[in-house]
Amino acid sequence: MNESNASYVARDLAHVWHPCTQMKDHEHLPLVPIRRGRGVWLEDFAGRRYLDAVSSWWVNLFGHANPRINAAIAAQLEELEHVILAGFTHEPVIALSEALVKVAPAGLTRCFYADNGSSAVEVAAKMSFHYWRNLGRTAKRRFISLANSYHGETLGALALGDVELYKATYQPLLMDVRVVGSPDCFERAPGATWAEHSTLKFALMEAALARHHEETAAVIVEPLVQCAGSMRMYDPVYLSLLRQACDRYEVHLIADEVAVGFGRTGTLFACEQAAIRPDLLCLSKGLTGGYLPLSVVMTTDAVYAAFYDEYVKMNAFLHSHSYTGNALACAAARASLAIFDADGVLAKNRTLAAHMGARAHALADHAHVAEVRQRGMIVAIELVKDKATREPYPWQERRGLRVYRHSLARGVLLRPIGNVVYFMPPYVITPEEIDLMVTVAEEGIEKATCD
Ligand SMILES: *Cc1c(COP(=O)(O)O)cnc(C)c1O
Repeated sequence: MNESNASYVARDLAHVWHPCTQMKDHEHLPLVPIRRGRGVWLEDFAGRRYLDAVSSWWVNLFGHANPRINAAIAAQLEELEHVILAGFTHEPVIALSEALVKVAPAGLTRCFYADNGSSAVEVAAKMSFHYWRNLGRTAKRRFISLANSYHGETLGALALGDVELYKATYQPLLMDVRVVGSPDCFERAPGATWAEHSTLKFALMEAALARHHEETAAVIVEPLVQCAGSMRMYDPVYLSLLRQACDRYEVHLIADEVAVGFGRTGTLFACEQAAIRPDLLCLSKGLTGGYLPLSVVMTTDAVYAAFYDEYVKMNAFLHSHSYTGNALACAAARASLAIFDADGVLAKNRTLAAHMGARAHALADHAHVAEVRQRGMIVAIELVKDKATREPYPWQERRGLRVYRHSLARGVLLRPIGNVVYFMPPYVITPEEIDLMVTVAEEGIEKATCD
């Protein structure tokens, strides 16, 4: 390793405990210190560059050091960095709320802020439960979520999710959530369409709601793509059916668009593809264009009204975070949101997505690729030990890690989830950079599956 990189690594490993990491891995897996970022590129202290094909954990939309977002934050910095949002307000949070209400599914008119995706999920769950309680429906205190779903790592969010790897250890600490079979189309029968499979799977949700609606406050789903759950995807028809059922059974629908929001699936919000409005919409990750931690739960006037009362009735939503509605983060979010319109981003992304899909689909014939799937700007490649039976590789073999290592050596940051290699690049990626990203993934997959 280059000397200046090495000294940062040594200093880091002396004190920094990294997220989602077995720290012992870093005895042999190189930690990558990053000095600067420009567009889709990250650069280390030796001047080596890495194409950020995962948008730095799905947060970055318009590249690192984006001039327009930089300028918005710098300008805001001269005015106000932060102020308590209880009893006080500021221009960026007002303007951002107006902008979000304009672009979100119609009827989501109220914005409650927090500072990360998990907290947004916690807010949505508490808000839903509390709504029913304020209406006197105190039995409605349970939640339904989907198998293989992911909603974050704090205890409430972890309980709502279903990714074994993150959840199993903490099970004794978690609230009891009803988990229903996923509409995940990787599991569809041969010959079945996505829509057929997702419709079929809805029967499980319908049954759960029919049986348990009286004690259920809300159903929470990640619309269209279960990102942390290996980028498994399903058909929009599931969301339409779910919306109808939630209405029928008087249960809230919480859409966790923390990962898929802001254009990832091809539309600004994934819910649009089913033309539905959730009762609560959770947004974070791309909200600030990948600059600052911020999240928001958007909800309806009806939900808001259930908390609006005389103080002594004790119906208020007494939830807060110190950095709620941080002014710098709100300024970044406004600037990021403005780029969608100014640059015709969603239309341009259709061209990029088509290119990415066309290039990646060549991998479908690979002897160890079970499926190449895509929704908008997300493409995933599922590696298996046996293509015919779809028998997965044993997780202990860490095949995805081999792809990670190869891609790093070739100047591309891919970070497979288990045995699923995926692309979720910033929207400022060029067709040539897509070619590089896919080529390096192809090489990595070949290397990772050759024995
Ligand atoms: C990342 C993610 C979260 C958690 O967000 P954090 O900011 O990491 O707490 C919640 N839901 C979904 C769908 C996510 O992808």
